[in-house]
Amino acid sequence: MTDGWSLVLHGGAGTITPERIGAGAEAGAGEALARALDAGSAILDAGGAALDAVEAAVRVLEDDPHFNAGRGAAFTRAGTNELDAAIMRGTDRAAGSVAGLTRVRNPVSLARRVMEASPHVLLAGAGAEEFAAGQGVETVDPAWFAVAERRRQLDELLARGGDAFDVDMKYGTVGAVARDRQGHLAAATSTGGVTGKRWGRIGDSPLIGAGTYADDRACAVSCTGSGEQFVRVGVGHEIAARIRLAGEDAGAAAEAALAEVRALGGTGGVIVVTPAGEAIWRFITPGMYRARATSAGLREVALYGEA
Ligand code: ASP
Repeated sequence: MTDGWSLVLHGGAGTITPERIGAGAEAGAGEALARALDAGSAILDAGGAALDAVEAAVRVLEDDPHFNAGRGAAFTRAGTNELDAAIMRGTDRAAGSVAGLTRVRNPVSLARRVMEASPHVLLAGAGAEEFAAGQGVETVDPAWFAVAERRRQLDELLARGGDAFDVDMKYGTVGAVARDRQGHLAAATSTGGVTGKRWGRIGDSPLIGAGTYADDRACAVSCTGSGEQFVRVGVGHEIAARIRLAGEDAGAAAEAALAEVRALGGTGGVIVVTPAGEAIWRFITPGMYRARATSAGLREVALYGEA
């Protein structure tokens, strides 16, 4: 696919089954994934950059309350919403990420400003918000992020006396990976983390090499799942290294990395694109919100089953 493009999105993996989701949420999530797919595809089809496409797609999902990113983020144990995001460009492995935001409407766009307008890769908490103030990104009252369904999930967890990562998790992190017509790759991920998280916990999503990675020599990856195990495996970089150094195809590399996650007691899923145009997903959960499109005419939105 010399001048073709491909785009893959996820909206989180987990116990995503028809019984669990309900028809209303199913339709809403599917519709939002389709809109995000359209936003990214339009950019790629017009010859735009993979980096612009993944940012545009993730912004749509951040603004949609069905996903655990931006509006609709998971609640911390203290009843707040703390947002993490990352973006990475495969051309030169430039990367930016943010963690623990409470006021930036679209964390993925602040991550991009970190990449393009700061000498750093990862900014967290108050410092990240201070950086945001000079970057022209939209800020909102923290109440913008809080939706009733996520609050209910926290209340249920607390009523059970549970902790983050109780059984039956439904991760709702969002991500996008793209290959543009120039053959360049990019990845982006955005999340509210996990329900009931404490103590300034940061997961895999904003950690370059864990939940997010892009290298034009190998692939672009975005992850969702039990972040702690994804961090310990270094899933994004592991998949890229398997492709680049061991010559594995994207599917085999993704399966091997997820097997490592499972071996550590974790679960989740990944999306991957390669310079050759492979556009795949793999997950070891009952379902994963996902979508993909290519210049060859593939267009798919799916929620349940079959990895
Ligand atoms: N991986 C995310 C985290 O641990 C959660 C998710 O995928 O929804 O922060």
